[in-house]
Amino acid sequence: TSEKNIVLHAADVIKNFGGLRALSDIDLQIEEGKTHAIIGPNGAGKSTLLNVIIGRIAPTSGAVVFDGTVLTGKAPHEINQLGISRVFQTPEIFADLSVLHNVMAPAFARRDGAFRLNMFRATAREAAIRDEAESLLNDFGMWDRRDDHSGALSRGDKRRLELCMCLIQHPRLLLLDEPTAGMSRHDTNTTIELLKKIKLRGMTKVIIEHDMHVVFSLADKISVLAQGRIIASGLPQDIKEDPRVQEAYLGG
Ligand code: ADP
Ligand code: MG
Repeated sequence: TSEKNIVLHAADVIKNFGGLRALSDIDLQIEEGKTHAIIGPNGAGKSTLLNVIIGRIAPTSGAVVFDGTVLTGKAPHEINQLGISRVFQTPEIFADLSVLHNVMAPAFARRDGAFRLNMFRATAREAAIRDEAESLLNDFGMWDRRDDHSGALSRGDKRRLELCMCLIQHPRLLLLDEPTAGMSRHDTNTTIELLKKIKLRGMTKVIIEHDMHVVFSLADKISVLAQGRIIASGLPQDIKEDPRVQEAYLGG
């Protein structure tokens, strides 16, 4: 077996909501630089698993380790500072700010040792952040929207905006919860192309996705969640042919 650099490990994770076991004995390992898809029927526990990773939900038991650091017990903003960014199923943006300022905001929020208040430095830093935000908006086909109120954007554009807001943070791990949900086929294809570009930059991603076209276009590895358990994990071609997977979908 080749040497693998596991950047994130969710070990023995259980999550109960009252009497409902949403996650059972989850063991998930995410390899550095890979795009790892998590698929499964509605209610399987996919969003819960993502929320456990980012610290929004405390697991009933088990732990998540990121790059040697135990995340369990840390607050979402601390986990974000460690290099994990996420795109939610419902975009979370600052509706009253312009598109450009939304993209710039997370970069300012980032802790930066070099940023000691010095007017020249602060101005240079703002210019650099603005440049990067503009370049992301350009890459994502949002250039014409840069001065628009973010609250007025279409659903698909809000999603793209949120992706830009994640990327400007240069996360080591990007988590995407159904990034193409509610998008037209055209916007979905554009998003696949963008996510492929991000993949080329070597960014590690966990992507939750219903759309099999998206999953098989992007994933290096797939884990299948059904009723809170990982029932299969492997390469896309193996998952495609796995009878347990087909059963989970047809039976789910
Ligand atoms: P998925 O994202 O795969 O569709 P979820 O993780 O959202 O599934 O939900 C998994 C199960 O946990 C579902 O049965 C859902 O109803 C339940 N669940 C999710 N969040 C909560 C919550 N905050 N309180 C109670 N039950 C929840
Ligand atoms: Mg979900």
